[in-house]
Amino acid sequence: MDQDRPKTTDLFVIGGGINGCGIARDAAGRGLTVTLAEMNDLASATSSASTKLFHGGLRYLEYFEFRLVREALIERETLLRAMPHISWPMRFVLPYHRDMRFDSETPTSRLLGLFMPWMKGRRPAWLIRLGLFLYDTLGGRQILPGTARLDLRTAAEGAPLQDHFEKAYEYSDCWVEDSRLVVLNARDAEAHGAKILTRTAVLSAERAGELWRIETEDRETGARQTHSARMLVNAGGPWVGDILQSKVRVNTREGVRLVRGSHIVTRRLYDHDKCYFFQGTDGRIIFAIPYETDFTLIGTTDAEHADPAQTPECTPAERQYLLDFANTYFRQRLSDADIVWTYSGVRPLYDDGASSATAATRDYTLKVDKAGGAPLLNVFGGKITTYRRLAESALEKIGAELPGVIGPWTAGVPLPGGDFPVEGFEALVDDLTARFPFLTPFHARRLCRAYGTEAAQVPGQARCAEDMGRDFGATLTEAEVRWLMDKEFARTAEDVVWRRNKLGLRMDADQIAALDAWMADRPSRARAAE
Ligand SMILES: Cc1cc2nc3c(=O)[nH]c(=O)nc-3n(C[C@H](O)[C@H](O)[C@H](O)COP(=O)(O)OP(=O)(O)OC[C@H]3O[C@@H](n4cnc5c(N)ncnc54)[C@H](O)[C@@H]3O)c2cc1C
Repeated sequence: MDQDRPKTTDLFVIGGGINGCGIARDAAGRGLTVTLAEMNDLASATSSASTKLFHGGLRYLEYFEFRLVREALIERETLLRAMPHISWPMRFVLPYHRDMRFDSETPTSRLLGLFMPWMKGRRPAWLIRLGLFLYDTLGGRQILPGTARLDLRTAAEGAPLQDHFEKAYEYSDCWVEDSRLVVLNARDAEAHGAKILTRTAVLSAERAGELWRIETEDRETGARQTHSARMLVNAGGPWVGDILQSKVRVNTREGVRLVRGSHIVTRRLYDHDKCYFFQGTDGRIIFAIPYETDFTLIGTTDAEHADPAQTPECTPAERQYLLDFANTYFRQRLSDADIVWTYSGVRPLYDDGASSATAATRDYTLKVDKAGGAPLLNVFGGKITTYRRLAESALEKIGAELPGVIGPWTAGVPLPGGDFPVEGFEALVDDLTARFPFLTPFHARRLCRAYGTEAAQVPGQARCAEDMGRDFGATLTEAEVRWLMDKEFARTAEDVVWRRNKLGLRMDADQIAALDAWMADRPSRARAAE
């Protein structure tokens, strides 16, 4: 019977990471009907485990990845303007010393080996200056300041470092709260009419002539549902190959290379608000970044990861590698006891045949498969920084299959809560504090960082702290958890304290368990809608 047939949408997106949600938002804003299915929580895989930088990727210049670097550099400021609550400019301090080495596989190191063999793989200072000059000029900066030199013997940035680091260069990139970026894209997609299904796994997708028939399973209730769509988008990140092989069952030679990256978090190691860009003698680089006010984030590693189903974890060897690396720079000697948290993610890199994980391209590749009917778009690789541009490129390909799709619209359009000027953050905090004087400075800043111009909706009508309901710890109140469950698709304590915010760093296991129990008792919006 006709009423039993699923309604056909234009697009069905598999995967609620940054690429799936970015494509869903862009497509819905162009008037397409969209359904997105994410098998766990939004951003539960790679998109919450990044280094959280909107960056051009200084090191990719050595691989001659000029297209990627230029696109990403230009994109930084577009993104910053659209979300000045969850993204902000950062200065990076790059200490210079003679023993820094290239990854031996970079085209630059091969060229230098040919013309300056006596350097024996070391990076000369002039090359770093050239790289920074390109970094400053390739991307047409308007907001971010350019490169400067620092004398580490006198500058405050030299104080946490060992004495033999005497000079440094300083350049700009931006920070971004990666998992919040995903949720804000999902919210905006929904505001434009998209249907966002979380905890919903795609079991199979098959072509039925001009349409796709997609079978999903609700991972909480086990309920199965059939969907119909004109085009399918495979934005499964590390699972992109698995989806092709076992869910869509298409024959393809396209592959994804899984490269794990881990980070360690320590208590705050230094007093200023800049990051360090440390170069190692193994040709790799790591960052040390001020994190969540009271912490320092150090990462990352590059390790082959065999299977997407295997949850990535920071191994003892990766912990030690990051500690040893940081210990070649910091005056304070770090040990395993200093690590308060670790996290790991798997980069779904397009398999370009590079021999080392570090050398594999970070650029994205979009492939349309039309074998036998309805079109399928596969997303390989990509960076958080290029997600909006990736979505625009995806929509170009989608538009070729679904005629009538209107042009790009997302550049210059703020994400929810981001409709205020880049330099307007402090005014936002002042305003919130004036309206709700019972909020502590930490609490008010945290709400503004998370929710931007929507922050006042969390306390709402509250006239005192008690009006915000139960305090679960670390300023997380019942009013905020209700907001997260009703508007931001949160279902469990883990969704809240590790992805909607990072209060897991400040709450103890009992507090998190109490939050979980409270959330389990309260119907989520998905369950309320059933
Ligand atoms: C260590 C590390 C550091 C990084 N640092 C940076 C950085 O600083 N800056 C930057 O720009 N980029 C960075 N990146 C890259 C960036 O994080 C990734 O490119 C990006 O997050 C990939 O997003 P995605 O949406 O493709 O994948 P994911 O976020 O993994 O999303 C894919 C989703 O698909 C879902 N899924 C899979 N199969 C199914 C199914 N059958 N049904 C339903 N759902 C399914 C998964 O659950 C998952 O949530 C970093 C990556 C790593 C690993």
